Amino acid sequence: MANPMTPAQWRAALKAEGVPFTELDGWTARGRDAATGKIFGPVNGVLNHHTAGRDSLRAIAYDGQNGTLPPPLAHAYLPKSGRLVLVADGRANHAGLAALNSFNAILAEKAIPKPSKASGTVDGNDRLYGIETENLGDGNDTYTRAQYDTWVRFNAAICRHHGWTAGSAAGHLETSVEGKIDPRGPVEGYGKRGRFALTMKQLRADIDERLAHPASWSPAQSTPQQEVTLTGPSYINLGLTHGYQLAPGSWDEIGFTEEWSDELGQHSTSGEVFAVGPVRFTGTLSLRLEGLPVGDVVQVRMSEWEGSTQKALHPIHEVIGTEGGTYSVVPLLKRLPAGRSMRVRLLNLSAGGIEVASAVLTALIWKES
Ligand SMILES: [Zn+2]
Repeated sequence: MANPMTPAQWRAALKAEGVPFTELDGWTARGRDAATGKIFGPVNGVLNHHTAGRDSLRAIAYDGQNGTLPPPLAHAYLPKSGRLVLVADGRANHAGLAALNSFNAILAEKAIPKPSKASGTVDGNDRLYGIETENLGDGNDTYTRAQYDTWVRFNAAICRHHGWTAGSAAGHLETSVEGKIDPRGPVEGYGKRGRFALTMKQLRADIDERLAHPASWSPAQSTPQQEVTLTGPSYINLGLTHGYQLAPGSWDEIGFTEEWSDELGQHSTSGEVFAVGPVRFTGTLSLRLEGLPVGDVVQVRMSEWEGSTQKALHPIHEVIGTEGGTYSVVPLLKRLPAGRSMRVRLLNLSAGGIEVASAVLTALIWKES
């Protein structure tokens, strides 16, 4: 039998676990115990929810839900900032009816089966702590890093206080007999982990990892990626006014003589440079070659320059001669650092000269800063 935490125990447990929190006025006297004549506790677990809305503190603490469900709607509210708000320490309207089979699994800290109404029901509001985490629940809205970190700490603080494992932490979707889907949605990241989809399995794994350490522990963080600001995309579309001859055996930069569009103005007067760093671009080069014998090869690659010095050569794409003219589309996708410019070059590996009849470069370019 576990008695619900007292306000002093709440404060101590959250503080020890490193949970940033504030206390909403009156939270230690807020609960549905008196109104329902039912006492909160003994407690057997933590039920996790998403709010399915924004800025829900008012509704959770004061207004309730649609006039049908009186407040409080949870013990704690966790907004995107990651700073938890203690709302109530008494009975709260968050769980509704929990399927008995799921509830018993939480009690035993075992894998939670699909909730079955036929197994019977328990009033979850009598027995479970509830936390409402701010998220639209549309599958796109993202839990912030700070929010998820606090979420793990909050569950761990309660489990540690009661001597529970993460098996005592459940999601509303795991107990509900009314088809609740919360909590769900993408998480920005946690520790060294990047973006991932929230699952109760993962949340429990992260809670258990905390519980294996002292309460003061923090997960190792990956070095934060440097923020890159991208402007654009700008459009560039270049081509050839006339075809030109390509002699065998030596690399030759394509000089684009036709400029249909160049929104960034990076296409050089010589015609060869089409992008200047720092940029990121994606596009294609469409080629038509005449006179390339069937099976013979023309190689295509991007070359990176600093002024008039060639600094890097990018992988080769091979264009193979086909009957009745040779057509090929070469993908262009690169990140080009500051001070570098990009060109495209061709190498005719055939024995004789050929004609580059058409070369059309189409790309979207983002400026980096
Ligand atoms: Zn819920």
